[in-house]
Amino acid sequence: MIKNPIPWPDGAKCAVAITFDMDADSILHLAYPDNAINKISALSMLRYGPEVAIPRILDTYKQLDIQQTFFVPAWCIENYPSTVKAMVDQGHEVAHHGYIHEYPGSCSLEEERYWLKYGIKTIENITGQRPKGWRAPYYDFSGNSADLLIEEGFLYDSSLMGDDIPYILKTDKGELIEFPCHNGMDDWPQFANYTDFKYEMPIKAPSQGLEIFREEFDVMYKYGGLWVSVWHPFVTGRLANWDKIAELIEYMKAKVDVWFAKMEDIALYVRKCIDDGSYTPRIDKLPYYKDKVVLTHKK
Ligand SMILES: [Zn+2]
Repeated sequence: MIKNPIPWPDGAKCAVAITFDMDADSILHLAYPDNAINKISALSMLRYGPEVAIPRILDTYKQLDIQQTFFVPAWCIENYPSTVKAMVDQGHEVAHHGYIHEYPGSCSLEEERYWLKYGIKTIENITGQRPKGWRAPYYDFSGNSADLLIEEGFLYDSSLMGDDIPYILKTDKGELIEFPCHNGMDDWPQFANYTDFKYEMPIKAPSQGLEIFREEFDVMYKYGGLWVSVWHPFVTGRLANWDKIAELIEYMKAKVDVWFAKMEDIALYVRKCIDDGSYTPRIDKLPYYKDKVVLTHKK
């Protein structure tokens, strides 16, 4: 099923990266710059993430003895510093997720570069280290994103959906490791019903909605893939969902031969395997197209 499986460390059958995007209320201010501050109910729902869900998630991680990755917009770091500090204090990775969850694809090259640098600085201030990874807000990886990330020395991206295992994004400027995710591993399609964002999916029971994540894990374990969740504290961190997720993590941990790791550690490991020749990744050359694809009539 997988043509070029990675030799995961210590004989692990698959790797697991539980990644949370701590967007908090950044997305509301972006969507409603003029009146988000009056949308108190929506604000309360989104602020549940840093205020209630993240402390709960950190407690579970501590009990299960795992360290994972949080993608955090710089604006959220500035507005919820103690929440982010708690992530850092427990050894988790804080990775880059834009400034205020802006759409990179709608930014000019200079704007995208500006917010990327701004986020790097903000993360450096709170963690003492440059971020090694990035996830595009809204998965909106622009035509300039890869080059900008390479320019700033990023090791990896986790916004694209082109494979089941890590692969390489190559441009004329260099390369990046890609940790692919996909919409089925996002919690919005299962649980999000937010009229303010015009996203109104029928909310599933936790046990039903979470089944997809378990089945995704089973297949990654079977074939040696990389399991990457794209979860949001205000969605998956709600009480009933997180209660079930804690069971799912225990189920994954009970397999023993599963590697739970921060994405920065997975990136360093994959880079080592590529360099010593034990892993030959698939390479995606960007851009995919040099010009617009248009319907033309050939005479
Ligand atoms: Zn996000």
